[in-house]
Amino acid sequence: MLYKDLVRVYEALESTSSRLEMTDILAELFRSSDCAHIRRIVYLTQGALVPDFYPEKLGLADKLYLRTLSMATGAKESEIRQLWAHEGDPGIVTEKAFESKRQTTLFSSPLTLDRVYDSLLKIARSEGSGSQEVKMRLLADMLHDATPVEGRYLARIATGRMRLGVATQTVLDSLVQAFASKADKPAAERAFNVTSDLGLVGEVLCQEGLEGLERLHVIVGNPLRAMLAERLPSPEEILERMGGRAMFEYKYDGLRVQAHIDGDRVKLYSRRLEDLTGGFPDVVKALSAAFRGKSAILEGECVPVDINTGELLPFQEVSHRRGRKHGITTAMEDYPVRVHLFDCLYLDGEDLTCLPLPDRRTALTRCIRVSEDVRFSEAKVLDNVHDVEEFFTEALTAGCEGLMAKSINGDSVYRAGARGFLWIKYKREYRSEMTDTVDLVVVGAFHGRGKRGGLYGALLMATYNSETDRFETVSKLGSGFDDATLAALPEKLDRYRLPQKHPRVDSRMNADVWFEPAVVLEVLGAELSLSPIHTCAFGKVREDAGLAIRFPRFTGVFRDDKEPRDTTSSQELLSMYEGQRKK
Ligand code: AMP
Repeated sequence: MLYKDLVRVYEALESTSSRLEMTDILAELFRSSDCAHIRRIVYLTQGALVPDFYPEKLGLADKLYLRTLSMATGAKESEIRQLWAHEGDPGIVTEKAFESKRQTTLFSSPLTLDRVYDSLLKIARSEGSGSQEVKMRLLADMLHDATPVEGRYLARIATGRMRLGVATQTVLDSLVQAFASKADKPAAERAFNVTSDLGLVGEVLCQEGLEGLERLHVIVGNPLRAMLAERLPSPEEILERMGGRAMFEYKYDGLRVQAHIDGDRVKLYSRRLEDLTGGFPDVVKALSAAFRGKSAILEGECVPVDINTGELLPFQEVSHRRGRKHGITTAMEDYPVRVHLFDCLYLDGEDLTCLPLPDRRTALTRCIRVSEDVRFSEAKVLDNVHDVEEFFTEALTAGCEGLMAKSINGDSVYRAGARGFLWIKYKREYRSEMTDTVDLVVVGAFHGRGKRGGLYGALLMATYNSETDRFETVSKLGSGFDDATLAALPEKLDRYRLPQKHPRVDSRMNADVWFEPAVVLEVLGAELSLSPIHTCAFGKVREDAGLAIRFPRFTGVFRDDKEPRDTTSSQELLSMYEGQRKK
């Protein structure tokens, strides 16, 4: 196939904004193409060379492209730069530069689709020293043989700007139109959603039609497009929609990961199908150790944890780890993570996506032995509003965003790439931003782990309830201590140590060590939320919960000038919560 035939189609696509017309144009192209070329055409039309989850990406730096164009046309770099500033599109710049400047060549051969594809792939793959020259040469060679309009599209695809405006769905529709009938669309959609490879779907449709599509199933190494959830505002509506009963799970606030395990090889993909493996060697190792089987595709949420308080940290802490190439070891120590698995889509040769959720969950529990770093999502089958509300509060306390309700009916399959009511999220804003510091009193402590072994890892902090004259816990504090302060804590606190909880301390948490309320620390938190574990202002906002300070940090200031009774009161914290509750 000649590249110019593809370019003619690109021009036609660009001249319309009608989706139907685009579908017709593409269907015609597919029908008239050799099956062996379909994959390449599909990827190129989307401005890519391979499916998204492959590493090869196009996107030559503008500067490099500018030099290449100057090399290929003989035009001065300064002239091209000026043109670029005016046009803003390397495609048009290339076309114009060609028209005015190109040195006449006697021996140019027409570009073929295969040559363009192979050269672009080499460009995408070349890295390391000397790679710039290789890329420039490959591209200049193609430009040398290109017509001006071919140059326009070569420039756009090489610099990662091939925006033809053709949506994935349009390509899929035109493949169906070319090789099957309208009724086969759901089968084609499913094939795409489970393989995430539109080129593969196109090739199979062209070669084998519908029958081939039906044979396409989940492949270890091809991330599935993630199943998504709808949202409803109340447990009543959720239960009604689910037929009175559903599985409720904690909705963790982290990074969704799809783990593809094949023997010793583990690959991790994000919800957007990016390869995350490089940034999470600890997760790879933990999953490898926890997995009992030959191969699997598992899904879960990767959450950052504070190893000293055992509490979940804000999502941003895990995002530091994404896409990192350097400093992984430090990042692993600074931002340790844990995975909570919630689904199993494939196990030992069997595609499980068509099974109901309870069966997939059973497969998951069968193939994973839980560890410190690999756990299941907390889950309960519930059938009444009261229990759902209770579980919801528990989830908030654990640092989660709310609950995910999942259908456990016979039709509760894994619907890759679809948002629907088989999964429903239940979140409500029970958080309030904290802008001021508070003064809290130490009432207990927890032994340290990791780098804090032998010291206190976290302190149990309380507010003072002036109405009842009692101390009420509000937070586990583990951040903001420098090494010297941490080392000096036992000396500062141990003189107030008690054999058991102080009689005027209300705590639902069991500290390793208890203290008489005496030492007051200044603390800044990120937000106030509800918690059934903490006793501060218990029952004032919700019957079954108190207030908690999330993500607290010690500011470094010991308020030795303050009596424990002068610490921030529970009443004050309640009005802070109410005053700043997020809308
Ligand atoms: P949202 O991003 O608000 O649409 O919520 C969906 C996201 O919640 C998913 O993509 C997951 O990353 C995340 N999530 C957290 N916990 C769970 C869970 N137990 N089951 C499914 N998804 C979860």
